[in-house]
Amino acid sequence: MLKFCSLYSGSTGNSLFAQNNNTKILIDAGVSAKKIIEGLDSIDVSPNEIDAILITHEHSDHVQSVGTFSKKFDIPVYANSKTWSKIPKEVQKIDEKNIHTFNSSEDFIVGDLVIHPFRTPHDAIESCGFNISDGNTKISIATDLGHVTPEIKSCLMGSKFALLESNYEPEVLRICSYPSLLKSRIAGPNGHLSNNMAGQLISDLIESGLATVILGHLSKESNFPEMAYETVLSELESRRFKRGTIDLSVASRFEPSKLIEVG
Ligand SMILES: [Zn+2]
Ligand SMILES: [Zn+2]
Repeated sequence: MLKFCSLYSGSTGNSLFAQNNNTKILIDAGVSAKKIIEGLDSIDVSPNEIDAILITHEHSDHVQSVGTFSKKFDIPVYANSKTWSKIPKEVQKIDEKNIHTFNSSEDFIVGDLVIHPFRTPHDAIESCGFNISDGNTKISIATDLGHVTPEIKSCLMGSKFALLESNYEPEVLRICSYPSLLKSRIAGPNGHLSNNMAGQLISDLIESGLATVILGHLSKESNFPEMAYETVLSELESRRFKRGTIDLSVASRFEPSKLIEVG
């Protein structure tokens, strides 16, 4: 059985956890090492048990402590070669034997888990989402995507669980205090996914078996958890899905979710 926990998720920092019986991984280390340790402690996992850290892309809200954390606990880190080239300071801290490079179009194995990376349209050098599978069950992580490509939709098909970006509400983004350049970056095709776009994607995935979704990577200034939740639900209702069709929740930027069992 796969288990998943959003330790922290939001535009200010991201670190996610997934495991099956024999393998435990982190996806991104974009908050302090201390916070990651606290988050893992809340689900009774020791940092020494982590088998690998997967990196989605080089932005600091995803890599802030990857070097420190890897060095402290001797953990292998997986990123594509272009992403490695953009985080030289973190690379310096990581023991050479712990630097692993994946090809963004090829599956790779970590312990008992098969990882399928897929490209996301985002203003990073080569950002990725991940399908994680134990051979029976597939879960997906897709954040930092400006729009939903056909590849993303087909990769997410058949997932029982997804941590999906629901970054901003267009009207709140329009009136919030961000500079206008940042606003157009967020809403652009290589920025972030809006609440509506997340709802539409979830609607398209329900019939392929999607049962549980955590909305994540919410913007600090241009979204609210209740608004993301309600907008996604009303998008589902507009497609005639009843409330309760899926188990929907919103990840916190401040505290870990519970450990979700997906099987
Ligand atoms: Zn990013
Ligand atoms: Zn991000």
